[in-house]
Amino acid sequence: MAAEKLQRAIDTLKEAGVRITPQRHAVLDFLLNSMTHPTADEIYKALEGRFPNMSVATVYNNLRVLREIGLVRELTYGDSSSRFDCNTSNHYHIICSDCGKIVDFHYPSLDEVEKLAEQVTGFDISHHRLEVYGLCPNCKEEKKAQMH
Ligand SMILES: [Zn+2]
Ligand SMILES: [Zn+2]
Repeated sequence: MAAEKLQRAIDTLKEAGVRITPQRHAVLDFLLNSMTHPTADEIYKALEGRFPNMSVATVYNNLRVLREIGLVRELTYGDSSSRFDCNTSNHYHIICSDCGKIVDFHYPSLDEVEKLAEQVTGFDISHHRLEVYGLCPNCKEEKKAQMH
């Protein structure tokens, strides 16, 4: 599955005329295999062993290229650092209020909300975001263990 996705992403890069450097390949591979919506820093830490000469700036630069081509979505949450999502299909996020982990979940897109918003406000709607917050199973277990 992930290998297939990676191949498709590489084809998209090639079609866009973007050079596929080993780092770019690694960043893409890491994102496609990670379901946690990592920050640039987390990606850097995961890959620095393989690319000792790579800097965080290189990771950011690669993420920017991938975002501009539409392979990656950047998620900003107030003042905390951006997270990156390679699932560019429409989906919603649930966020752990303890550890900050972000997990995808699917729910029919709330098109009627967009339509209503357009009618009521006269805006041209581009998109919407929805985040659900709670305690993830890991943090729930940890909390339980602390209580006993
Ligand atoms: Zn958690
Ligand atoms: Zn996502």
